[in-house]
Amino acid sequence: MTRSSVLGYPRIGADREWKKALEAFWAGKLEESEFHQQLQEIRLNHLRKQQEKGIDLIAVNDFSYYDHVLDTATMFGIIPKRFPYEGGEVPLSVYYGIARGTKDATASEMTKWFNTNYHYIVPELDGATPVLTENRPLAAYKEAKEKLGIEGKPVIVGPLTFLKLSKGYQPSETDAWLKKLLPLYVQILQELAQEGVQWVQIDEPILVTKLSDGDLQRLRTIYETFAASAPGLNIMLQTYFEAVENYQDIIQLPVSGIGLDFVHGQTGNVQAIKESGFPSNKVLGAGVIDGRGIWKASLREKLTQLEELTKYVAAERLIVQSSCSLLHVPVTVNNETKLLPELKGALAFADEKLNELVLLTKAVSTGAARIAEELEQSELAIQALKQSGERNRHDVQQAVAAVSAQEPARSLPFAERHVVQQNKWQLPIFPTTTIGSFPQSAEVRKARQQWRKGEWNNEQYEGFIQEQIDIWIKLQEEIGLDVLVHGEFERTDMVEFFGEKLEGFAFTQYGWVQSYGSRCVKPPVIFGDVAFEKAMTVEETKYAQSKTNRPVKGMLTGPITIMNWSFVREDITREQIAYQLAYALRQEVEALEQAGIGMIQVDEPAVREGLPLKEEDQAEYLAWAVKAFRMTTCTVQPTTQIHTHMCYCEFHDMIDSIESMDADVISIETSRSHGELIHSFEVNTYKLGIGLGVYDIHSPRVPRVEEMTSMIDRALRVLDPKLFWINPDCGLKTRGKEETVESLRNMVQATEIARSAYSLNV
Ligand code: GLN
Ligand code: ZN
Repeated sequence: MTRSSVLGYPRIGADREWKKALEAFWAGKLEESEFHQQLQEIRLNHLRKQQEKGIDLIAVNDFSYYDHVLDTATMFGIIPKRFPYEGGEVPLSVYYGIARGTKDATASEMTKWFNTNYHYIVPELDGATPVLTENRPLAAYKEAKEKLGIEGKPVIVGPLTFLKLSKGYQPSETDAWLKKLLPLYVQILQELAQEGVQWVQIDEPILVTKLSDGDLQRLRTIYETFAASAPGLNIMLQTYFEAVENYQDIIQLPVSGIGLDFVHGQTGNVQAIKESGFPSNKVLGAGVIDGRGIWKASLREKLTQLEELTKYVAAERLIVQSSCSLLHVPVTVNNETKLLPELKGALAFADEKLNELVLLTKAVSTGAARIAEELEQSELAIQALKQSGERNRHDVQQAVAAVSAQEPARSLPFAERHVVQQNKWQLPIFPTTTIGSFPQSAEVRKARQQWRKGEWNNEQYEGFIQEQIDIWIKLQEEIGLDVLVHGEFERTDMVEFFGEKLEGFAFTQYGWVQSYGSRCVKPPVIFGDVAFEKAMTVEETKYAQSKTNRPVKGMLTGPITIMNWSFVREDITREQIAYQLAYALRQEVEALEQAGIGMIQVDEPAVREGLPLKEEDQAEYLAWAVKAFRMTTCTVQPTTQIHTHMCYCEFHDMIDSIESMDADVISIETSRSHGELIHSFEVNTYKLGIGLGVYDIHSPRVPRVEEMTSMIDRALRVLDPKLFWINPDCGLKTRGKEETVESLRNMVQATEIARSAYSLNV
């Protein structure tokens, strides 16, 4: 019989109960025993839900107190030396210390889980002696069985993926580390086998990336060892997020099942199966339901896809499953009350995806006729959205088609723009500026609350925002900054703010997903054609400009960042969505220019987040991402100065793309990468205006003048002084007022030192 399976379920709960419990515990408002109890309740609820829906293979040990990679590391006793730990089960204080830092020890680094917006804690291997501190998968299995009678499928992060995501060792030490870890994995598996566990899901998403011969050899060693030491256990070797590389090697591994992503890796995986077949002694985990998207599946299409697969795999050897863990989608559509009916009807979050899995499984085993009605319904829902007016803005479609048919370019090349801009603005050498936002104090947040609740009318709220702008324009002048900003006091979130004002967006009430730890985000949904309706930022910017003679930079979020931080429609390509956004934002850029704003910053911190996992797909993405940015910014006068800003990521391998965005000035975060970026300018040249962040805004510490002068000196060794700007790393909205002012004063002082040193030299 064909079975259904889920690779993991969201932890956070339909009302973010999980987040609330964690934060209450951290705040000391919840006793540890009560905390454990609350989390157990949440965990069991989630299992019960899947059981009631009729999922055959339910993942256990997918639940976490923070992050599953951290769970794996602590299960192996891998605790950085700076935390007090004496062996045995890892206390919560240590566990959360690693995740969040303590007053004596900094947190471990956190980084993106493949190409998702989920962040995991990077295990630090140096100095650790791995031991099994507890068999978490076993505990989770027993709990599900005892409490709910569920025959669970424990999930574990596989050894190769775990090692590849860890740091604190040299490549030459990989085998030594594998040797230390393997016996622990074996012990876990043997104990599971003894307990009578049927299936274990071992997650090896690393198999969708290019592996060296050495890693392929390690892969064989790992799974041969497992097969030999726990022969009774069925291992589902699970991959996701893309098609696997090395399909032929993978299917030869001695495992009972192989899980493939037939959504994000559909083309590659299907092609591999067609070319090389699928072993008749294995089970295929067919990930046909998108674990990352929010849209209802066309059951008809999915069924065709599954039927196609049964040409290569017997139906009883097929497991119908989600393409990856459902961790990446919100919990349920049920509680949404404010969405357009045609939109709500076409959405499927985690719970709705459970239904789809069960239906498809039924259809594969007993015939499509059994789900005839549901097949029909899913088509109707998809049709209804397709016909929605929001998706049929022919005016927008035509305009965007016309605009994107042209190669977007400024009317003058940078070298010439630079001259006319310099004439117009007369900026000193090493101009100083900030990234856009100033502290969002409790007062600012409270004002917004009052306004949103209707306790304040528009006038009151706008008056308040203007007061904040007044204060900060004065402060910026006093500090001596050259290019000012209005401070973004009217914005909560840089994507939401624009999404609420543009057409084609919807906002859910409960559509939260975990980003890292207890932090959840509620991405906007781009479901229709994106259209500019009316100016979004002109009023505040114009007001700020009216208060000063120095230039005020307009401040927008760029098309790629808006797209990468939203859930997007799937009936048109991401490239097309990016162009729609670009065209809409271009109208805002033009409105700002018309209102007399001569410097406009278009932030693109999330460009890298959309980078495809497969190297061969990256160039294409970067090309249209760059084009979208240029489309947004290319129509302004040569004298209008376009700025952009990027942060959070490594840029060294994409400096060429950044340069071809053709922004007059870019500000990039550098202080957290400890000058690595500066190093990359020794090998690559950059010919446009650039500001390397001279201090880290993520810390409340006020940086000393000398720290910043040394940053500046270092940068000036590799960059053209005439194109060099001085600014902090990122926006200042999370900082306090006093520390911000003091830090900026020091920054200006450091700039003056750099200026006089420069004038002595020329
Ligand atoms: N302009 C934004 C700010 O200053 C940029 C934020 C970001 O880079 N994430 O807040
Ligand atoms: Zn930033």
